[in-house]
Amino acid sequence: MGDRVNRIVIVGGGTAGWLSAAIIAAEHYNPQNQSAAESGFQLCLIESPDIPTIGVGEGTWPSMRSTLQKIGVSETDFFRECSASFKQGTQFWGWSTGNDDCYVHPFTVPHKYSDTNLAPHWQNVRDQVKFADAVCPQSQVIDNQLAPKQITTPEYAFNVNYGYHLDVGKFADFLRRHCTEKLGVVHISANMTAINAIDTGDIASISTDTQSDISGDLFIDCSGSRALLLGEHFKIPLVSRNKYLFNNSALAAQVPYQTAEDPIQSCTLSTAQSAGWIWDIGLPTRRGVGHVYASDYIAEQDAKKELLNYIAATAGEQAAADASIRNITFDPGHREKFWHRNCVAIGMSAGFIEPLEVSALVLVELSAAMIAEQLPANRQVMDLVAKRFNQKFLYRWDRIIDFLKLHYILTKRRDSEYWRANCEASSIPDSLQDLLDIWQYQVPWHRDTTQIDEMFPSASFQYVLYGMDFTTEINPLQRRADRATAEVAMALFNENAQRAGQLKAALPTNRELKILWSDNE
Ligand SMILES: Cc1cc2nc3c(=O)[nH]c(=O)nc-3n(C[C@H](O)[C@H](O)[C@H](O)COP(=O)(O)OP(=O)(O)OC[C@H]3O[C@@H](n4cnc5c(N)ncnc54)[C@H](O)[C@@H]3O)c2cc1C
Repeated sequence: MGDRVNRIVIVGGGTAGWLSAAIIAAEHYNPQNQSAAESGFQLCLIESPDIPTIGVGEGTWPSMRSTLQKIGVSETDFFRECSASFKQGTQFWGWSTGNDDCYVHPFTVPHKYSDTNLAPHWQNVRDQVKFADAVCPQSQVIDNQLAPKQITTPEYAFNVNYGYHLDVGKFADFLRRHCTEKLGVVHISANMTAINAIDTGDIASISTDTQSDISGDLFIDCSGSRALLLGEHFKIPLVSRNKYLFNNSALAAQVPYQTAEDPIQSCTLSTAQSAGWIWDIGLPTRRGVGHVYASDYIAEQDAKKELLNYIAATAGEQAAADASIRNITFDPGHREKFWHRNCVAIGMSAGFIEPLEVSALVLVELSAAMIAEQLPANRQVMDLVAKRFNQKFLYRWDRIIDFLKLHYILTKRRDSEYWRANCEASSIPDSLQDLLDIWQYQVPWHRDTTQIDEMFPSASFQYVLYGMDFTTEINPLQRRADRATAEVAMALFNENAQRAGQLKAALPTNRELKILWSDNE
């Protein structure tokens, strides 16, 4: 029993630190066993009172709903305390031609997706209806700035799938209160000053500027992009992936609504620029707007000009003049491995590629969930769990890179060096090129995803491919399976159109559902 893994120490109190603490403690803390001696399990989080969090992330996946439910928080409290709103997907403007083109990647998979692949049948009507409109009612819900549920729909349930837009600073505060008040997490406000190792190389304890040494069995590095434990102490390098994805800088601003009646968007708006893209997120009380760009292709002052032009066009000249802009730089990439000895990195310390498709917080959720589920019983099996963890997450980072890169290579834009370079063969991962070669002749389907817990389902690839006008050269009448489902497909297209009409009539706008966040106004 001497080497049981019972004492977990998290360094860092950003969203990664507090979300990890909540997920792991919710699984292992037993409120009946109030004393550490009884339960054995202890989770302590050390957070610097001086070093700020990155505090930019404002979008989540739908997975956050089940995470919040599992850690035991009320969705209404979450909405009110974190300035949260609904995110039903992303609308991409100007990515295909740069001429006001638009497509949506909604969070709801195509109608009856588990049984019928509508994509081959849509090829026959592609000139008449956009892919997402044909197969899923959510694009029309999004176009009308409607909520994904009614006021009577229970917490976490929905009519169409959703995640959240939120204020990450408030989210970390919310999670801190929940962790310390309900989940037995010990919060230490202190600066880490040293990492103390034993002969084997394992970390034994952390020294801080205010407390005696804090010892543990497993140390979670949530210290942000400096990766103080995994990077600085263990020297596990960051593997840059800038060969594939070029963005490495961001300019972030908060923009007020012009009037209290301005619509709150139901999705993230992503508008392509000359060397990057602008995100636009609608929170209940303000918008979060930012430009993520590649500094090799555009100078900061020009990127800033593009951002200010966007703010002026969407919120007025005064908002652009008043905007206070924060500059953030990052090296797109991830650690060579994430779990080394008795230390595992989660959040920015593990890596960051770029905000497109908001894959950062979902990786935090998945990492913490795997640690919670497979918490090594003792030090001997920890290396095996670590090996599994590293394999799984290296695979996931590769899939994220494939999916993000897909957004860039289908463009017809050739108006800047950035878009031209993005389409060069040398910048496309082989794994993605193989998929594209296959998809020229067959549409994506469940067979294209090899793992049961794949991050991006084949439906997501369909939305991006056909949203960007990709051509799959198939004649649905030539394949027996497609001929057999042709009639079913037509009925499903009709059902989808009817469902879209019903939802448009029944769902309130995001503003009308303001009771959810009324405490914040
Ligand atoms: C431009 C941009 C946009 C983004 N948008 C999204 C998005 O829409 N969706 C999404 O999912 N993600 C997004 N992200 C990523 C997201 O912001 C982060 O993944 C998330 O906030 C988690 O950050 P973190 O907790 O790992 O790091 P941080 O927020 O940097 O936290 C680090 C913590 O470590 C502490 N610390 C540091 N040094 C010490 C020390 N010596 N002693 C004690 N404590 C210490 C700090 O005080 C802090 O509490 C975005 C990132 C960027 C750059």
